[in-house]
Amino acid sequence: MSSVIQLLPDLVINKIAAGEVVDRPASVLKELMENALDAGATSIEVTLVDGGRKLIQVADNGRGMNRDDALLCLERHATSKIREAEDLDRIGTFGFRGEALAAIAAVSRLTLVTRQADAANGTEVQISGGKILEVREAGSPVGTTMSIRNLFFNVPARRRFLRSDQTELAHLRQVFLLYAIAYESVALRLVIDEREAYRLAGGSTVTERLRELLGASALQALRPVDHAAEGVRVHGFVSLPHTTRGDRSEQFVFVNRRPASAPIVGFAISEAYQQLIPRGRHPVAVLFIELDPVEVDVNVHPTKKEVRFRNPGALRTALAEGLRAALQASAQPQGGDATPATAGLPNLRQLFSPSERPMSRPDTGQLEGVPAFPYPRIEPQQVSSTVPSSVVPVAQSDTVERKVPGTDSSPWAWFRVVGQVGGLYVVLETEDGLVVMDPQAAHERVLFERYMTEAATGTVATQGLLIPETVTLPPPRARAVRKHLEAFATLGLGLGEFGGDTFVVDALPACLGKASPSSLLNDLAESLETGLPRQTAPGWLREKMAQAACRSAVRAKDQLAVAEIDRLVRQLGACDMPYTCPHGRPTVIFMGYNELNRKFGRS
Ligand code: ADP
Ligand code: MG
Repeated sequence: MSSVIQLLPDLVINKIAAGEVVDRPASVLKELMENALDAGATSIEVTLVDGGRKLIQVADNGRGMNRDDALLCLERHATSKIREAEDLDRIGTFGFRGEALAAIAAVSRLTLVTRQADAANGTEVQISGGKILEVREAGSPVGTTMSIRNLFFNVPARRRFLRSDQTELAHLRQVFLLYAIAYESVALRLVIDEREAYRLAGGSTVTERLRELLGASALQALRPVDHAAEGVRVHGFVSLPHTTRGDRSEQFVFVNRRPASAPIVGFAISEAYQQLIPRGRHPVAVLFIELDPVEVDVNVHPTKKEVRFRNPGALRTALAEGLRAALQASAQPQGGDATPATAGLPNLRQLFSPSERPMSRPDTGQLEGVPAFPYPRIEPQQVSSTVPSSVVPVAQSDTVERKVPGTDSSPWAWFRVVGQVGGLYVVLETEDGLVVMDPQAAHERVLFERYMTEAATGTVATQGLLIPETVTLPPPRARAVRKHLEAFATLGLGLGEFGGDTFVVDALPACLGKASPSSLLNDLAESLETGLPRQTAPGWLREKMAQAACRSAVRAKDQLAVAEIDRLVRQLGACDMPYTCPHGRPTVIFMGYNELNRKFGRS
């Protein structure tokens, strides 16, 4: 019998490998940009035609290659970046597998033009479907230009899987943005179908680069993060809860400056915003995670997109603490200057195709076309000492037109209650425009923060119930509650066992006096039952308790008197996170004067 097993020819191997490394135009761009950066380029120009189908070109001014290397680099496992297995443990470059170019060359028509600084001439190599067509001397600037044409021309199956030009472009753009953020000092240009999409100056700082990419106004909705814990440093920016997106495409994560996705990072971000934004929404984030390279494994996946952490717990702690601190700080707008957005810069809305416009305050510092407020201004009253100082009015001057950039977590510097509509919503006039407030959501937020402060400092005052209430829970919930009886006591919930799965509630936190014991206990039991096993830390329990308590303390039928509304608006303004209720519903909706002007056709 003859043998049937054969070694596959290189061409076939490369085509198979291409399936892993190159799945769409964006992955080609990623490999080429990484190679350019690895070659020490300080300037990179990217040209795309027809969603990358027709052309993906990356021209760099890096160190270039000589003729031999220009040929060798197209071979599988040809790399200048590592030499021995030990090098794998200390990878300082993007590349090291030496397979990207071979794979790309196998499924496209590739032209490579390259010259080293000390060489008189450059080299041009043309290759099609992995076969070298031509090698010749060619004039070339110092550096390398890779042009990939007709991607997947010989892999019809892959070609069919490509999406519309627009979708492919969105992915390509995302790749470009990632490296533009990570390499703020490199000059970058992106040309799409002969139109310049970006021209970014070299030698920038991260803040300057972000301002160029996102616009100054978007930058103002971001809060700086900088935190180190357990050997992990997290720095960058995250958005305030009122600026969210329908997906994670505006979450840029870098691990040791390498764009990376790690499920755990997305998870930690979601966790930090859990009770701040509605389910299914995602904050904007630019996060740089720095840690000892031996703590990260980048060699998990051929595209190196996903990284793995040796100690995910440390990362999660650092992220959670860092994000929380950033969101709570009523910090200055980042970037060291509080200048309002300047006109002419692209903003987030133009830059991305957002599924939602940020619920923002006006972009500019000037209220064009809006007359000075015809109403007497209400000065916020002196507030009691228990309220954080952030409520103290920022606008102290008498010129009512004076604008206060978002220097404070308070959504308004002053306000006037216009009235209540629909028997529920409260309409406010503020310095920035119209605000509609949901008093129930606002009330929940206020109670939540008050209670959280008490609980965190162990100073929850309790109030005994005149008539203790018995509550019977389904067995699994009863079990979950029984485990935490003691913890509840310190949180101000007087809870005893009454036999079987019945409990008796005889005391509530005083500030939540109106809570209904049965709905409180049911809510609480539900989150205990559905929470992850490791989420029963005291902080988590406290938060769940607060969420449940506020919900049941504020009931729909509660009618607010005018004086109460006024107080509520002030209290909400003083909250650390005033924009959402503890369950993520918005407390306020803004309509800025800019938006009104636009809608009425005033320029
Ligand atoms: P890797 O990046 O993993 O080494 P590649 O297939 O992407 O593998 O590239 C192979 C080799 O080609 C690199 O190691 C590098 O020496 C060379 N090379 C690729 N692109 C460039 C470039 N733009 N400038 C200089 N050298 C390059
Ligand atoms: Mg490479």
